[in-house]
This record gives sequence, structure tokens and C-alpha cells, in this order.
Amino acid sequence: MSRGSAEALVRGPSAHQLAELHAAFRVFTEATASLEQQYRDLQAHADALRRELEEKKRALDASIARQRCLETQALRHGRLAAMGEMAATLAHEVRNPLGAMELCSKLLADEVRAQPSALRLAEQVASGVADLNHLVTNILDYTRLPEPCLATTALDALVDEVLAVAAPALGAGVGIARRGARGVTWPVDRGLLVQALLNLVRNAGEAMAGAGTLAVALEPSTRWLRIIVADDGPGISAANAESIFAPFFTTKERGTGLGLAVARAAVAAHGGTLALRPCAGGATFVLTLPQAGQTAPDEE
Ligand code: ADP
Repeated sequence: MSRGSAEALVRGPSAHQLAELHAAFRVFTEATASLEQQYRDLQAHADALRRELEEKKRALDASIARQRCLETQALRHGRLAAMGEMAATLAHEVRNPLGAMELCSKLLADEVRAQPSALRLAEQVASGVADLNHLVTNILDYTRLPEPCLATTALDALVDEVLAVAAPALGAGVGIARRGARGVTWPVDRGLLVQALLNLVRNAGEAMAGAGTLAVALEPSTRWLRIIVADDGPGISAANAESIFAPFFTTKERGTGLGLAVARAAVAAHGGTLALRPCAGGATFVLTLPQAGQTAPDEE
């Protein structure tokens, strides 16, 4: 070792060398901190990407599940549509002979009126055939998609017609009250509206079982018309009120469960609504038909 270096060792690093060392150390510390920060940023970014990926995978799984569910539904709808077509064809074929049988059984009942036991049998046949005819007609009405042909119609005459057709089934003990406006004319499909009202009136009659009051009211406004059919029968429980418009829901031993579904479809074809109005006694149905170009409001 030279004498100079030995002296330097004895003296230690000079102030200049120390400053350089400090500077180098600071640069090193800063670089390390910066690298650590970058590492943390990268980690946060990787976490965010992983979360995004997981979310996308969840969405993809849900979409695949939805797709499978839609495929199953489409398959079921296809089968149901085919069955519906078959039922409609069958109902159509069965209705004509049924009509003839209904007529013949009534004629037969007239023929044997003097023989009580034969008359009872003939009446049983007539009643069974009438039930079948009602069922088949309802199935046909339900499977057909109603296409309304609107014409301005005098509603007093239409309501009278419905009540006249339903009168024998209502029985002499049921009083009929006509309420609301008179002389109303409205754009309706006569056949569809008669069908809807007949189903409501028939139900009211069955509910009152021969005694009570059936009220039919017309309430027109500038934008829509309300036709209210109310009876004072036993009414409809809150639990059943949820289901009565669903096809095939019935609480009757010989019901088809199609009357209200058919009535609602006929009203919907006019752009209208058919609803059960909550009330204290009996059952009240509100049929709302909009004026052309208007939308029926929800039942209050
Ligand atoms: P169905 O008359 O063949 O049963 P609907 O679709 O016409 O079929 O009626 C469904 C159900 O709604 C009936 O079984 C009955 O429980 C209930 N319902 C309908 N109208 C009335 C009414 N006016 N009073 C009491 N219950 C009714």
C-alpha cells in the first residue's frame, strides 16, 4: 500500500465522497420506491382485470343459461302450438255433430214429455250435450286469435241482446238492473263484445244460483267506455282473484275455466282491459274499451 492510500484509510472518506455516496443511495432508494409503486399499480391493475374477467364469465354463464332456457321454452311452445292446432281442429270437427245432437235431444225430450222416466233420460242427454257444446265452443274461441272488425254500434241493443240470450240460464229469480248512460254508441266488434259480455253474465248467473240482482252499467267518457257487470253472489276470494283470468282455472265442477280468458282476449283485441274490481259484496267486472287511438287506463 502506498503511503497516500494508507493515510486516506486512516482519514476515512472525504466529504465529497460521502456526498456522492448519499446521492447514489438516494437515487437507489427513489428507484426502489418507484419500482415498488409500479409493482403495486400493476398488481391493482391485474386484480381489476381478474375481477372484470370473473364478472364477464358470470354474465356469460347467465347468458348461456338464459339461452338454454329460451331454447327449452321455444321447444315447449312449438309443441303446445301443435297441440293447440290439433285441439282446435278436433273441436271444430266435434262441434257440428254436437249441434245436431243438441237439437235432436231437445226434440226427443218433447216427444217423450208424457213418459217421465224417458223424459228424464232425454233431458240428461240434452244437458250433457249442451255442456260439451259449451266446452268445445270455448276451446275454439280460446284458440282463435280474435281479429276485431270495429263498427260504430248502438250498445243498448247489444246489451239487451246479451241479456235476452242469457235470461233462461239466469232464471226468474234474478232481477236485472240497467244503470249508467243510455243511447251510447261505440266502435266495437259486435260478435266479440257479445261473447265477452255473455261469459260475464253467464258467470254472474251461475254465482247467484237463481236469486239476486245482475246490474249492467255503461259509463262513457271522451276517451273510453266502461261497461260494468256486477252481481250480488258470493263474490271471489282474494286468493282466487289472482287466478280467475288464467285459462283452465275453474272452481266449478263442470267449468271449463275458459270463460274469463276468452272474454279478456276479446276485450284485449279492442285494445281494452277486463278487470275484477275489488268490492265488498258480490263480484264486479269492469270492461274498459278505449276510443279509437286511445289506450285503456288501468282499473282504479
Ligand atoms: P268457468 O266459468 O268455466 O269456471 P271462467 O273463466 O268463466 O270459467 O271463470 C273462472 C272462475 O272465476 C270460476 O270458476 C269462478 O270461480 C270465478 N268467477 C268468475 N265469475 C264469477 C262471479 N261472477 N262470481 C263468483 N266467481 C266467479
